[in-house]
Amino acid sequence: MTHPLAKTHRLVVKIGSSLLVEEASGHVRRKWLDALADDIARQRAQGREVVVVTSGAIAVGRRPLGLPSGALRLDQKQAAAATGQIRLAHAYQETLARHDIVVAQVLLTLDDSENRRRYLNARTTLLTLLAQGAVPVINENDTVATQEIRFGDNDRLAARVAEMIGADTLILFSDIDGLYTADPRRDSGARFLTEVVAITPEIEAMAGQPGSAVGSGGMVTKITAARIATQAGCKMAIAPGHGLHPLAALEAGGRATWFKPVGEPKAARKRWIAGALSPAGVLVVDEGAVKALRSGKSLLPAGVVGVEGEFQKGEAVLISDRQGRAVGRGLVAYSAADSRRLQGLNSADIEAALGWRGRDEMIHRDDLVLE
Ligand code: GLU
Repeated sequence: MTHPLAKTHRLVVKIGSSLLVEEASGHVRRKWLDALADDIARQRAQGREVVVVTSGAIAVGRRPLGLPSGALRLDQKQAAAATGQIRLAHAYQETLARHDIVVAQVLLTLDDSENRRRYLNARTTLLTLLAQGAVPVINENDTVATQEIRFGDNDRLAARVAEMIGADTLILFSDIDGLYTADPRRDSGARFLTEVVAITPEIEAMAGQPGSAVGSGGMVTKITAARIATQAGCKMAIAPGHGLHPLAALEAGGRATWFKPVGEPKAARKRWIAGALSPAGVLVVDEGAVKALRSGKSLLPAGVVGVEGEFQKGEAVLISDRQGRAVGRGLVAYSAADSRRLQGLNSADIEAALGWRGRDEMIHRDDLVLE
C-alpha cells in the first residue's frame, strides 16, 4: 500500500499546545520546534506546500502577564493570547528562517470561514502566500473572537483552513496518538484503528461525549474536524506529535489513524458551489464567454453583458446566456455594483474602473461549476 502522504501536494499540519509549550515554564520547546521545522523544510523540498495551524498562544502568554495557573476566564485567555501570539510567531519565524523559509502569520476567526466575502479574501490571501513560497502560520484570532464567534479549538479551525484552500492532507499532531475502539486507559481490549473509511455513529461513539474522560482529551473536536476535512475531499490523520520529527516519523510509517476523504478537494468544492449555495444574482454573458467557460476557462469581465440582483463579493451567482438559459454558477469576485462597472471591460482596465486592482477574473474557474 502506498503511504497516504505519497500523493500529498498541499498539507495542513496542526500543532497542539501540549507539544509546543512546556507546561512548567510556559516556554516554547525550541528543540522540538526546530525538529518540526526541519520536517517542514523536507516536505517542501519534496514539492509540497505546507500550512501550519498552531495552538499555544494562551499557554505561552499567560506567565509573562502574571496570570494564575489553572482555568482562565475568557478575557484572561484573550489577554494571554495577545501576549503569547507574538512569541509564538517569532519562534516559527526564527526556526523556519534556518531553512530560508518565509513565515506569514494569519489570524482567523470563525466568521472568516462562514462569511463568504471574508472567506474568499482569506482564501485568496492564503493561496497567494503559498504561490509566493511562504509557510502560513495560522491561529485563531483569540483576542477579538468572543465566545459566540470562536472556534475555541484549533482542530476545527485547521479543518476549515484545509477546506478553504483545497488542501489534500490534514494532520492533527497532539498528545493523542489516534482513535481507539474504546478508552485504552480503562479498557484493555481497546483496539487502535489505523484507518477510518466513514465517520459513522459508531465512530462518533468511540470519541466519547464532550466532557467525558475520553472526550476531554479532545477526541470529539478531532472527529468533527475529520468530518469537515473528509467532506472537503481532504484526508486526515490523528497522529502522535510528542517525539522529535513527528512528520518524518509519520512519513516513515509511524502510528496514526487515517480518515479517508470523500472524493477529491476540487470535486468537493464544486459540489459545495453547485449544491449548498442559493444564488444571489445573475451574470448574463455573451456567446464568446459561454464557449470559453465550456472549454474550461474563467469568466472575464469582457464577456459579461448584464448584471442582475444585488450581491456581495464572494457570493454565489448564476451565469446565464442572453436567452436566459443557465450556463453555470460560481463565486463572484466582485460585488454587484462593481460587476456593473466592470461588465464588458478588459481585465487590464479593472484598476482604472474601480480605483483598486482586483482579480482579473469575474469568476475564477476553480470557483465555477457548469450546468
Ligand atoms: N488558539 C488557542 C491558542 O493558541 C488554542 C486553541 C486550541 O487549543 O485548540 O492558545
